[in-house]
Amino acid sequence: MHASITITPTIQPVSIPVRELLPWAIFGSMLMLLAIYFVGIEEGAAAIFNNMYVHELVHDGRHLLGFPCH
Ligand SMILES: [Zn+2]
Repeated sequence: MHASITITPTIQPVSIPVRELLPWAIFGSMLMLLAIYFVGIEEGAAAIFNNMYVHELVHDGRHLLGFPCH
């Protein structure tokens, strides 16, 4: 006896056109740059927020990523 098993894919990959993907890619890139800014640069006289809350919040990440600190 011979049993033939055919596997047909039920989920087809959906192609996303670049035209639809590009705004989200730009949005994500801006969020990433904002996060890098807050972790790496937001400190001292040029800071957006005058208190040290943001700096203290991301302080561990700052050391983890090797940004110069203290
Ligand atoms: Zn530090």
